[in-house]
Amino acid sequence: MNLMNAYSYSPLAVLGKQQQSVKLGNVLKAAKEQLSICNIDEPTLLSEYIIAHTLQCQRLELYACNEKLLSAAEICDIQNRIERLKKGEPLQYILGSTCFFEHNYKTDRRALIPRPETETLVETAVNYDDLWHMPHPCIVDVGTGCGCIVISMVLARPQAEYIATDISKKALSLAKENAQLYNVSEQIKFICCDLLSKVALASADAVISNPPYVSATDRENLPRHIREHEPAIALDGGNDGLKIIKRLIYQAFNTLKPQGFLFMEIGSDQRQDVQYLLKQTGFHDIKISHDLSGKDRVVCAKK
Ligand code: GLN
Repeated sequence: MNLMNAYSYSPLAVLGKQQQSVKLGNVLKAAKEQLSICNIDEPTLLSEYIIAHTLQCQRLELYACNEKLLSAAEICDIQNRIERLKKGEPLQYILGSTCFFEHNYKTDRRALIPRPETETLVETAVNYDDLWHMPHPCIVDVGTGCGCIVISMVLARPQAEYIATDISKKALSLAKENAQLYNVSEQIKFICCDLLSKVALASADAVISNPPYVSATDRENLPRHIREHEPAIALDGGNDGLKIIKRLIYQAFNTLKPQGFLFMEIGSDQRQDVQYLLKQTGFHDIKISHDLSGKDRVVCAKK
């Protein structure tokens, strides 16, 4: 049922009925129904988010005004967003923002959606006393994507010099928009390059990164909203998932000053391999942090 028809439950008359108003309760019901038919997970929750976003209210407030009449423009807006969800697009792209480390970031198809597990990476670096004993450390975020890592760090620890790189110009443009949103553009030097290729050797006190680490087999099993809509370049770690990690470890070692730190997000099954690669390259003091579901997620190592 098209949402315009939530009024009558008739299968016809879509935009022709624009002058009619429809009750919120019926719109919610119709939206859920459309998503369920298309086998979209969590149809109720997603419908609530979409409708609350259009009506600019809290999700749970919706149930207090079931009888409220929605305008044709509101219904049209909701219908368009529901259509995008039906095509598997992630909610965060449709809503245009997501929360990460207590701040909202603009989110769209130019970059990977910030994940809760990446908050563990930021938390580890932000609370790493050995790094913050330095008066003004130089920190490089590699593959910054939408910029959520570097911007979170600037906001939490302004007393440092920050560089953010990405090979994708589109991702960098989004990161710059997010930096403007928080008024921190002046504090971050953005560089378009492959990993650390344009950052001076032995210049950084810390390198931080959420590199692409998903293996070819894992990629096939990713949910549709990730596989078909998020940039593959931000996820693709080659056949074994370690292709970029290997290059990053090597380049980070050369970019770090002696005693510098590498903070890196990894796949939950990559601990052994990554520890081996780090040791082989010359890193020591290797520590692993776990994400909120208790999985190995972040590695920290010292040059
Ligand atoms: N954690 C992400 C996912 O599984 C992967 C992020 C990455 O490759 N850096 O979707």
